[in-house]
Amino acid sequence: MDKPYERKIYFGMAIDPIHVGTGGYTLGRVDNPTLRDFDGIPKIPGTSIEGTTRTYAALYFKQPQCADKEKHNKKPQDGGCKYKNYKCKICVTFGYTNSEGAKEDNKPESLQGMALFSDAKILFFPVASLIGPIWVTCPSRLKELNVDQGAWQDFDESRFCVVSNYLKSKLEDTGFLNFGWLLLQLKKKENGETTTHNICVDTLFGADGLKFRDRLLNDKEVEILEEILNRLVIVSNSVFSQIVDSNLEVRTSVSINPTTGAAEEGALFTYEAIPRTTIFYFDVVYQKPEHFGLNLGLNDIVSTVETGFKLFEFLGVGGMGTRGFGKFKVFGLDEKYDKVKLSEIQANNLVGEIRKLKEELKEIKADEERNIINVRIKELQEKIRQTTEEMQKIAANWEKVCREVQGDD
Ligand SMILES: [Zn+2]
Repeated sequence: MDKPYERKIYFGMAIDPIHVGTGGYTLGRVDNPTLRDFDGIPKIPGTSIEGTTRTYAALYFKQPQCADKEKHNKKPQDGGCKYKNYKCKICVTFGYTNSEGAKEDNKPESLQGMALFSDAKILFFPVASLIGPIWVTCPSRLKELNVDQGAWQDFDESRFCVVSNYLKSKLEDTGFLNFGWLLLQLKKKENGETTTHNICVDTLFGADGLKFRDRLLNDKEVEILEEILNRLVIVSNSVFSQIVDSNLEVRTSVSINPTTGAAEEGALFTYEAIPRTTIFYFDVVYQKPEHFGLNLGLNDIVSTVETGFKLFEFLGVGGMGTRGFGKFKVFGLDEKYDKVKLSEIQANNLVGEIRKLKEELKEIKADEERNIINVRIKELQEKIRQTTEEMQKIAANWEKVCREVQGDD
């Protein structure tokens, strides 16, 4: 029988550090810790992914009114959604509620979104070691993805397993490795042999449940994942959460009073973030619109969501975006996006960030914080300069081709 839904698993990588705060209260060593899962490991909550995806899809499709769940039922002249008979792919994908009681146009009063988002959990976490960067994972995370399940019986907290022959050959002789401050012993069989585990791009993406659509990872993505898998080790569940916890980035910033926009007196605060190159996984359950009597297809829903995901790469997810946080690359997306539109959104965002930072500078007195902001502004300006240069080269190239071809007539 035809299933009423499809579940699709996504992988993504933090391009910037990612901060998803739990709010302003003080908890131990940091004022603004990241949101955590029940096992104490930070995560990006599904609600945050959903809200951000909706906002970005609305931005891309130039339907700002549909960024809001409650605007579908308003009349278009009152800032409501302009699509009738629940044909709006954004409002159907993310759902809408009835705020004004309007029942015209045969719109149902409210609709649960067709796309349901899970939390994004950390799968591979980067940590510095004596042999350079390595990535850490644990049995409970791998189990959720059905990877190589029998491989880690009798897992001892003081030990780690290697995945690749590369690490096996590097570590077999010493038998120990440091993970930040923690020293663990390489797990060996009784006969002294070190085993590797079969986790590769194929086993990750070919496993049961990951085959909703043939996932076309591009060469760059495969290359990144292969490099990480080459440097991947498995530690026990509890050691994994310890390693993550003690290797989060902790930064200091200044509090801005939200009503005046001014820096608050003595209000330096610390916040923590998940470091760049962390690999996450999450899933989206796509309900089939035809099962709800809707005249959109499953592909409309998937492409709306994935369009939002595409913008995570430029606009980020989580907080502290103007400080260079939150950019996140979702792997395996189609590359069919309108390049002009994407570059327009990216450019507007850069301009907006620089303006916001310059506004902040007017209010902030602390030298340390001013320096951070000035460095950030320079970074963004440099990025604009580099992109402009790149684009000019591409344009010059095509103009040349154009002239050549026209000369042939
Ligand atoms: Zn809409």
